[in-house]
Amino acid sequence: MSKKQKKATSGINYTPENKLPKLEKIKTQWDLKNLYYKSENDPQIEKDIVIAEKAYKAFAKKYKGKDFTSTSKRLLRALQESDTLGEMVESRKPAYYFSFRTVLDANDTVAQKRLSLIDDRLTKAGNEVLFFGLAISKIPKKLQQQYLKDESLTVYHYDLKQSFEQAKHLLTEPEEKILNLKSDVSRGMWIAGTDKILSKRNVSYKGESIPLNAAIDRINAIPSKERPKLWKLCTDQFKTMAEIAENEINAVVTNKKINDELRGYKTPYEATIKGYENNEKSVLALVDAISSKGFALSRKYYKLKAKHAGVKTIPYANRSDDVGEGVSVSYEDAVLICRDTFHGIDQKYGNIFDSMLTNGQIDVYPKPGKTGGAFCAHSTNLPTFVLLNQVDSTRSFTTLAHEMGHAIHSERSKTQPSLYEDYSTTTAETASTLFEGLAQERLINALPESQKLNMLNQRISEAIATICRQIAFFNFEKELHETIRLEGAMTWQEMGKLFVKHTKAYMGPAVEIKEDDGLSFVYVGHFRNFFYVYTYAYGELVSNVMSQKYSKDHAFVEDIDKFLTAGGSDTVENIFKSIGINTNKTDTFLESLKTLERDIKEFEKLTK
Ligand SMILES: [Zn+2]
Repeated sequence: MSKKQKKATSGINYTPENKLPKLEKIKTQWDLKNLYYKSENDPQIEKDIVIAEKAYKAFAKKYKGKDFTSTSKRLLRALQESDTLGEMVESRKPAYYFSFRTVLDANDTVAQKRLSLIDDRLTKAGNEVLFFGLAISKIPKKLQQQYLKDESLTVYHYDLKQSFEQAKHLLTEPEEKILNLKSDVSRGMWIAGTDKILSKRNVSYKGESIPLNAAIDRINAIPSKERPKLWKLCTDQFKTMAEIAENEINAVVTNKKINDELRGYKTPYEATIKGYENNEKSVLALVDAISSKGFALSRKYYKLKAKHAGVKTIPYANRSDDVGEGVSVSYEDAVLICRDTFHGIDQKYGNIFDSMLTNGQIDVYPKPGKTGGAFCAHSTNLPTFVLLNQVDSTRSFTTLAHEMGHAIHSERSKTQPSLYEDYSTTTAETASTLFEGLAQERLINALPESQKLNMLNQRISEAIATICRQIAFFNFEKELHETIRLEGAMTWQEMGKLFVKHTKAYMGPAVEIKEDDGLSFVYVGHFRNFFYVYTYAYGELVSNVMSQKYSKDHAFVEDIDKFLTAGGSDTVENIFKSIGINTNKTDTFLESLKTLERDIKEFEKLTK
């Protein structure tokens, strides 16, 4: 961050509380060389692919066309061997390596080409063993019931139950193979195309050429008056690629419609909710509840905010503006606060963070060609990676804590058998927002009184972005998919209008949303992970229940760890039930929403 920007906000000066030992050396870039491969010429890459191809072939030779489901003994042996196949890193490591290179640099064409070839080879290898899951899903009903009670199969019970339930959505083996082989060209490459163009664009701001993705992230780190100007530069760029995004979205949404019809999913969101091991009824009840009660709160907040600023309406780009003195948090300070937070909850969590910091598993700063936003990537027996676009705003701070929440969840889930290591996106967003909230609380406590109103404002603003905005996005996606299904396609102008409509629904009349603001659909990556967004609202509301329980009694950390180590070993609803949180009741979510209501009341009092 330049000196000029720093003047708009005042930096915090954090004194660590836990007096943790100083870390040797923090790396701020992914260490692909040591953790993955030396370069694209590393001979180990080809060796690994061959090992994976051979292993799949050998497995197919052993089981394909053979009986491995008629007795529990046979089934157990086959399942165990299938686990071993899944744990093999050679089948995932090469693709991870090249895809990490492409997210770091959209201009890395060497990596793109190799990735495409490797994907093709490994998809073909994976197709060799497709018969396995299909055969399990076809076990006769009576035998299914028997296996679900068989003690020798206990560890597989949940997995088998899921397979039996999903069976009706599976196609024949040749059909599944074709869908797998075509998935990248019918979906993946469309999405990557838009992303690639976005990450290559620049905006020229104050004589400086900034990558478009970094500019979007920087909006909330510059003075309030400047924000609409920089945002306008961004939307101008979106406009130049709106037609590309229009074609991309029509293609991937229609492709999904075809898949849904083939698999017998009735609504556009059914496959996602089932895939996330969530209960559809409780998710839709959550969406309804937030669309009414939640949106009423966000509308009230923006009204208060406009009143406090002495204006009738706030421009869209100013919706997250500071109230009072702004705060900037450098990466070094963010690391100190997060270390205190994580070590303070449980040393295990702190140690996970420390080793990621020093091993080069966090890529911190924006770079030309680097993908925007932030994410955490995890996979069995491979190092977990976190990507950030740090701009020293408090948003950057909470993003670090959020992504580290994912990383800690991933590492703790590794205590599960490999088949349950991966978890639902809904529990993922609960873990991330839990750590985010606890770190934010520590930051607030470290600030002088004069900056607390600002942090309260930030907390409200972020809660609204996570709860109300994401549910508005869910509603946007729902109408987008339904309209394309009904009318065949949508133009980018129609997509833009739809975005404006659903954004207005939660922001209300106090925020001025212009037509061009609707072009946001061009860059919001989540719209490409259909209906993923509800997990944010769900996760935030549940994690809030958890942090309240933790604040009351720190012994609750045992339950938190029970949740974090549960991985994907049960449905989302059951995992939460096991630690005393009933997410089948809408009241649980509404009760949790009261924190936001209280915060807004406090905000009203402080801004009077
Ligand atoms: Zn997340």
